Amino acid sequence: QKFVYDFTEGNRDLKDLLGGKGANLAEMTNLGLPVPPGFTITTEACKEYLANGAEPAALRDEVTAHLDALEKQMGKKLGQGNDPLLVSVRSGAKFSMPGMMDTVLNIGLSDKSVQGLAKQAGDDRFAWDSYRRLIQMFGKTVLGVDGELFEDALEAAKTAKKVAVDTDLEAADLKKLVTKFKKIVKTEAGRDFPQDPREQMDLAIEAVFNSWNTDRAKLYRRQERIPGDLGTAVNVCSMVFGNLGPDSGTGVAFTRDPASGQPGVYGDYLQNAQGEDVVAGIRNTVPLAELEQIDKKSYDQLMEIMTTLENHYKDLCDIEFTIERGQLWMLQTRVGKRTAGAAFRIATQLVDQGLIDEAEALQRVNGAQLAQLMFPRFDDDAKVEKIGRGIAASPGAAVGKAVFDSYTAVKWSRSGEKVILIRRETNPDDLDGMIAAEGILTSRGGKTSHAAVVARGMGKTCVCGAEDLEVDTKRRRMTVGDTVVEEGDVVSIDGSTGKVYLGEVPVVPSPVVEYFEGRMHAGADEADELVAAVHRIMSFADGKRRLRVRANADNAEDALRARRFGAQGIGLCRTEHMFLGERREMVEKLILADTEDEREAALKDLLPLQKKDFVELFEAMDGLPVTVRLLDPPLHEFLPDITELSVRVALAESRKDSNENDLRLLQAVHRLHEQNPMLGLRGVRLGLVIPGLFTMQVRAIAEAAAERKNAKGDPRAEIMIPLVGTVQELEIVREDAEKVIAEVQEQTGVELKLALGTMIELPRAALTAGQIAEAAEFFSFGTNDLTQTVWGFSRDDVEASFFTAYLEKGIFGVSPFETIDKDGVGSLVRNAVKAGRETRPDLKLGVCGEHGGDPESVHFFHEVGLDYVSCSPFRIPVARLEAGRAAA
Ligand code: PEP
Ligand code: MG
Repeated sequence: QKFVYDFTEGNRDLKDLLGGKGANLAEMTNLGLPVPPGFTITTEACKEYLANGAEPAALRDEVTAHLDALEKQMGKKLGQGNDPLLVSVRSGAKFSMPGMMDTVLNIGLSDKSVQGLAKQAGDDRFAWDSYRRLIQMFGKTVLGVDGELFEDALEAAKTAKKVAVDTDLEAADLKKLVTKFKKIVKTEAGRDFPQDPREQMDLAIEAVFNSWNTDRAKLYRRQERIPGDLGTAVNVCSMVFGNLGPDSGTGVAFTRDPASGQPGVYGDYLQNAQGEDVVAGIRNTVPLAELEQIDKKSYDQLMEIMTTLENHYKDLCDIEFTIERGQLWMLQTRVGKRTAGAAFRIATQLVDQGLIDEAEALQRVNGAQLAQLMFPRFDDDAKVEKIGRGIAASPGAAVGKAVFDSYTAVKWSRSGEKVILIRRETNPDDLDGMIAAEGILTSRGGKTSHAAVVARGMGKTCVCGAEDLEVDTKRRRMTVGDTVVEEGDVVSIDGSTGKVYLGEVPVVPSPVVEYFEGRMHAGADEADELVAAVHRIMSFADGKRRLRVRANADNAEDALRARRFGAQGIGLCRTEHMFLGERREMVEKLILADTEDEREAALKDLLPLQKKDFVELFEAMDGLPVTVRLLDPPLHEFLPDITELSVRVALAESRKDSNENDLRLLQAVHRLHEQNPMLGLRGVRLGLVIPGLFTMQVRAIAEAAAERKNAKGDPRAEIMIPLVGTVQELEIVREDAEKVIAEVQEQTGVELKLALGTMIELPRAALTAGQIAEAAEFFSFGTNDLTQTVWGFSRDDVEASFFTAYLEKGIFGVSPFETIDKDGVGSLVRNAVKAGRETRPDLKLGVCGEHGGDPESVHFFHEVGLDYVSCSPFRIPVARLEAGRAAA
């Protein structure tokens, strides 16, 4: 096994082995760009070191061999007294990772070689400055000495000399500082600063290995879902100096603007400085464009190199460079980070430049970025008071009056007020309030707290864990420092940044949403450029994707929006939403009915209302499929709360004015009460137990379709049965439904083609999909219930109870209710697809659980061969994009 690679031996595809930095240094070397020679110690060496607590036996000799070669190439030896070779030692993992040891520069300097460096450079000051930097960095990062101590000593030296910047310190001052720094090391680390250059190098390499496992690095990896066993590479690179006088310097640059994607000259340059000076902001940098005046030759060369890099990587690159006495050196490059908007613009720009094709452009953006572009934002220029900051839990910008309990949230929002629900933390009892609120703010809990999870599910703005807020629900107020926010005061929360403001911050709508809504006018400003880029990327995606995208929508308004967003039908119309509001009373009547007549009367009242809903829906989705699901939730959901009603009845009895209806209602509530309603009388079970319920719904669908046909419309209704576990259930419902449809055809004289299918949302249904397909013309995977039943996790409770612990322990990286669990739930889906198609080759297959709009899950559904995904209207563009990416 080879543990060390010369820069000439690697390439950019070896990131696993050489880390990002090492792989790219090798790539640049092989492109013939001026990279100071050096070598990379592999991540494998690091892994062995971490596993065994010691370097692999072969490593030392390999490093020696590569160092020898480097010394030969450079014509001088590491730390050699009269003319030392100096090196930098840098970490470089596959993913760039804050929290790890970064860099030690100037390794090879000692009491002796500092003199040699001074002589060679003809610059005493430079040599002593380099030496003090080495002791400082080495002391801090390798020996673990508190960095402040060095900073303080440096400050003291400047104060003593009455100068403001460190470049005004002279050689003699720096020499004294070196003595001081060495003392600090001796006292704090309990050892002398090592004078042996090889020992310096070896210790630095070991420190890089160890820094893989610092707490900060581990925390970062957990948050970013970076595997903990990758290890880091170590780059040993010969030093070049940006601090050798005014003809030297160091800088950073982007090959194009990372905020807008515009080509141009972007970067900063600092004359007479070493790399860390730029980051530390000790002196002011100048815009990169000014380098043209300072050193035209290097500037021109740099511009040429940037073009080379962009054309080679076919992407935005960011780079670090140093100029040593007029000679340009490249120290680092990588494909640069960018904003969501820039990602879209850069991708299309690169297509126009002929650097990438459409399929590649689709890989340069993702659904999460598109989602980010679809949220409204606060106006950056608004002048308002920021009062706190929490965790950005669910993006968006929400403004409303502060309320501190769910009840008030609902009451105020019913009377037309916009409210922000503020709680210490939320629990399922707050659900109504959360639905009613514009946004949710909590002072406790993290990204996986109840508030965060539920808000994200609802697409509602949420800031959680804003620890500075003292929420006092009893007194209906919160305090932040000296500020008191009372119920009714207006607050604004930014779910993309976590910021909390007092007062109303103006909101600017997303131009991307305006575009999808068809409201965008043509122009030439920045928003229009963004929209143009999104438009093109979406057309690439639509051109490539195989999956169709439908919407989960229950009313004409949502259906129309979904259409504007590109929906190709409705994959799930939840009819229970048509049983709420004023219709509740009719549903109560249905449930309370004692006789056949009473029940039929109740159903008869509901029929025209249902039919009207469907007529509107079919009209909105004319020409496209609409999957209507028959009633699913347990009936008790339509009845009053058991405790409230009991209290009301008891009070009435004590006043001796009991109300007959309430008494019957209470009986019914008791009768229907279930310990486990989600596993109880719901879905197809209801349809089989309450006579006439499903047939009323089927009749409403059929009559609505007939009416649309008579109006020259093109209704394409599909009837879907929920919670089926066995084919027998489906057969019974199917027979009844077919009878009703035949009746309606007869009565109206209109020929109807209504497909009948089922949801696959129970494990048994998935396992017997082959049989179920005998009676189903289509399957729609209900991955919400399927996840719930496969894992045995209550979908309404777990996210608030133990999911946080599970996520922290890494049992899963993301909730299985958010991203499909491929190995468990996914494997049932995969098998059901196969079995279903074996029985019925033209079986239509879709998914309508929340996962239908989740980027990672969309790729899975593409791969297992579904025909469509169905998701909430707002996620349709994201699903289209991801379906395109999956196919590209
Ligand atoms: C499902 O279970 O995935 C589904 C879409 O149905 P509901 O969420 O209405 O239970
Ligand atoms: Mg379901």
